Amino acid sequence: MSYDIEKLKKETDSALLVHHYQSDEIVKHADIIGDSLYLAKASQKLAAKHLILCGVYFMAEVVKLLNNDKKVYIPDKDAGCQMVDMVPIKNVQNVWNNYLDKDTLIICYINSSLELKSFVGKNNGVICTSSNARDIISWGLTNFKRIFFLPDQHLGRNSALSLGIPHSNIILINDYNLDKLNDYQVILWPGFCPIHMPYQVDKIRELQKQGIRVAVHPESKEEIVKASDFNGSTSYLVDLVKNNPDTKLAIGTESHLVERLVRNYSHVQSLETSYCFNMAKITLDKLADTLLNLESDKYLISIDESLKGDAILGLNLMLKF
Ligand code: SF4
Repeated sequence: MSYDIEKLKKETDSALLVHHYQSDEIVKHADIIGDSLYLAKASQKLAAKHLILCGVYFMAEVVKLLNNDKKVYIPDKDAGCQMVDMVPIKNVQNVWNNYLDKDTLIICYINSSLELKSFVGKNNGVICTSSNARDIISWGLTNFKRIFFLPDQHLGRNSALSLGIPHSNIILINDYNLDKLNDYQVILWPGFCPIHMPYQVDKIRELQKQGIRVAVHPESKEEIVKASDFNGSTSYLVDLVKNNPDTKLAIGTESHLVERLVRNYSHVQSLETSYCFNMAKITLDKLADTLLNLESDKYLISIDESLKGDAILGLNLMLKF
């Protein structure tokens, strides 16, 4: 079925905030396109009455947290994130309450549940994104003896290593090392993004031998980031492509974005095919249905009031960076 999405947006006073990992059919209707940090910030400047987030659920929650006076929607509430689901809150509370001393700052990647963000805010911690993780970790280590970074071990490790923290000061939590955590500067939760796992060092070396430079997302493994020529958030990768038309680039991140870059820029190729099935849950049919049913609760984001205040604390601290 064909829909006039632009007409529906206009009639309902709606704006679309679209993540880079969305498909072309959604991207072409975006009012704003960006990574999670950009979408969070830009959402506060939109005049539209209804904000529709095309991305995954935690992103829509963040937009709602920062726009309390607006109605925020997601075209599929089941569009979750595998990394978010790797952090049972009870386990985090156990580590925080029983194994870490007071001179520890908790830093939580924005790819996390509302409950976890609230826990972080309540304990004077900070939320971060892949764009600002390095700066926030650097600030944390200047002001605290150690940081507890979760859920993405790779973003935490890559950022810490880039700041010159040696491996010997970094620990990945497991069931058997909890008593030793306070001996380290950087404590990592064992979460990861499966979409950024398939890259191979051999393939990177092979491309580099052909004069192709490689850029990956920092959710990739340490050896991949090390072997690559560049690493950064999705916005960084998009800018890198746009600003370097004479450099042959292979990009390693989610495939909807990479394939769009390959179509639009002849100097770009894909490092590896890897789709996020949760991002792909947002379709044109669901988007149209959202716009046609703004008065129902089906797509509307609601926030647990008891968690809201603390979650906003952690987010606001991040926005100051
Ligand atoms: Fe989560 Fe990875 Fe999908 Fe992003 S790409 S939503 S981190 S599973």
